Amino acid sequence: MKQENYFRRGFKMRGEIQHLLDRDYRSEIVEAARERGNLVEAGDVTIRIADEFGFCYGVDRAVDYAFQTREKFPDRDIYITGDMIHNASMNDRLREMGIKFLSEGFDGRPDEKFDELGPEDVIILPAFGAPVDWVMKLRERGCIVVDTTCGSVLSVWKRVTRYAQKGFTSVIHGKYYHEETKATASQTTKEGGNGKFLVVRNLKETAFVTDFIRGKIDADELREKLSHGMCPGFDPDEDLKRVGVANQTTMLMKETMAVGEEIRKAMADRYGEENLDEHFDLFDTICSATQDRQDALFELLEHDLDVMVIIGGYNSSNTNNLAIIAAEKVPRSYHIADGDCIRGDLIDHKPPGSALDAREEIEESGWLPDGPVRIGLTAGASTPNSQIGLAIKNILEARGLSLDDILT
Ligand code: SF4
Repeated sequence: MKQENYFRRGFKMRGEIQHLLDRDYRSEIVEAARERGNLVEAGDVTIRIADEFGFCYGVDRAVDYAFQTREKFPDRDIYITGDMIHNASMNDRLREMGIKFLSEGFDGRPDEKFDELGPEDVIILPAFGAPVDWVMKLRERGCIVVDTTCGSVLSVWKRVTRYAQKGFTSVIHGKYYHEETKATASQTTKEGGNGKFLVVRNLKETAFVTDFIRGKIDADELREKLSHGMCPGFDPDEDLKRVGVANQTTMLMKETMAVGEEIRKAMADRYGEENLDEHFDLFDTICSATQDRQDALFELLEHDLDVMVIIGGYNSSNTNNLAIIAAEKVPRSYHIADGDCIRGDLIDHKPPGSALDAREEIEESGWLPDGPVRIGLTAGASTPNSQIGLAIKNILEARGLSLDDILT
């Protein structure tokens, strides 16, 4: 790919498209709430909003670049490999702008359509990034590539590339089917890397790895349990002698720390603390935006709350983790995809803790208890303020209250 066909910093056109971003994603309601210390009080309803919520720097940048791309190339076909971010309303907006999606969902194979693309076509890579071979293929095709991969994802890639170059297998705490994790795993093949990786979803899967390291289960049993997360040709006997741990940027912080610690202890048991440097490496790659949102939620949960509302795509990893954290403290926790999920006495939501790729949504009535109610609210990193504002409006309307109190 010619360097002039590869854009990583947008087109310096934020000024030209700012009014479009404001129109689509700003919310007067959210701004008014911020001015009131993230507190909305009306009638017998109190809504307390987490100090950090909604769009992160990576998503803000990716959305900005997508809008700039449309402005820069008004007459070209513009494609995106899959979801721009995990927010349905956001992706729908891009479709309305004429941006074509090359795949849908976690199992999408946009690369199978790359042969149909050429130098006239513009391809946007999402904030999660894209696998190494996809980028190479687009380079071969001469396409114009607008790469919006988040800087925090790039720093994970650097770490994984380094592990692979020094002959370590990357153990990635993440979801093996998630776009970011697939892109991260592919970095092991870059610049002389050994191409070795193993993805573990949680502590349960980590226990299979540590059991193997300690000799409690054999390679066949490990393959049986974790083949979905293994790189092609993975040989546990060889490939788990030296490992480096990294993670998808949006995982639960405490789980990521525990995964790393469990593997560290198993390697120390097997090879001795004194030899650990030869066999184990760890780098916490949770991004600061994810961490800030989780920390702010923990602070919010220190208040007495009757209900928690968490807003964000059902396939959004960071939003799902916020919902899990909330549900541990507030049994009436509702993960909703967007503000429209609140319809008076009814709410459409995804039960916290259900599978990331589960699309099923439950309709529930009587979600808002009678009498004075204290509601906590937060939103994932891919949720625009416009949806958060809509949720606040719909909560108040569910109680027959108006927005006048907070907008005047
Ligand atoms: S959640 Fe983190 S890694 Fe993902 S786009 Fe936002 S800042 Fe970047």
